[in-house]
Amino acid sequence: MKVVTLASGSKANSTYVESGDVRLLFDMGLSGKATLERLSELGVLPMSLSGIFISHEHKDHCRGLRVFTKKYNVPVYVNMPTAELLASELPPDIKLRVFSVQEEIKFNGLRVIPFSVPHNSIEPLGYSIIAGKKKIGILTDCGFATNLVKERLKDVDLLLIESNYDEEMLKNSSYPWSIKQRISGRLGHLSNKASAKLIAELFKGRKAKVILGHLSENTNTPELAAAAVESALRNNVNESHEIYHAPREGLSGIFNL
Ligand SMILES: [Zn+2]
Ligand SMILES: [Zn+2]
Repeated sequence: MKVVTLASGSKANSTYVESGDVRLLFDMGLSGKATLERLSELGVLPMSLSGIFISHEHKDHCRGLRVFTKKYNVPVYVNMPTAELLASELPPDIKLRVFSVQEEIKFNGLRVIPFSVPHNSIEPLGYSIIAGKKKIGILTDCGFATNLVKERLKDVDLLLIESNYDEEMLKNSSYPWSIKQRISGRLGHLSNKASAKLIAELFKGRKAKVILGHLSENTNTPELAAAAVESALRNNVNESHEIYHAPREGLSGIFNL
């Protein structure tokens, strides 16, 4: 499998996953134009995409969908409540593939297993993606790690995980109290500390390979996010952990596994 982030942060999220001839985008938070530019940089023709998965209706996850699908009628995989919310903005002939959260979506040699996450949107999702013996997890926009989240991300070989804010920076930020509550609440986002704790749990006794993403530009830095993970992993005997950070704009490196 090949994984590349096209964008990751409070403004836009989009991740490309490829295995054999299966090419998927997870979220399209960039504009249609910017998505096309990044795909072109990657050498991926838009029409060759097998599908676009949308995790939830927040703009930073679906901003480019209307413009993109008007031009390129690639199937869009979405759950029913999210589809209903997005329907009015999308082209009438869009190929919607509506699935339920209990369903596994199978492609040629690759399976996408969606799972519910706690977040302030209608039916937000995380994903585990399995191809051959390899499993990757995508978890952003998650208020806290539920047992289901931990179960679905068990044994991941690579995890793209939200590390949204540093608790101190959020506390000291100029955001109004209500926003601070929303971000740090159980339907908000994972803090560096919460994300680090989950990483330590999921990679207990083995080498961690993680991409920290969805970092807030106002209440976090890549250094603080990485430091939290390193500190949480200090009791893990394996010392060759791979901790990366997904850039807010522009492609990440290519992660092969
Ligand atoms: Zn988001
Ligand atoms: Zn969101």
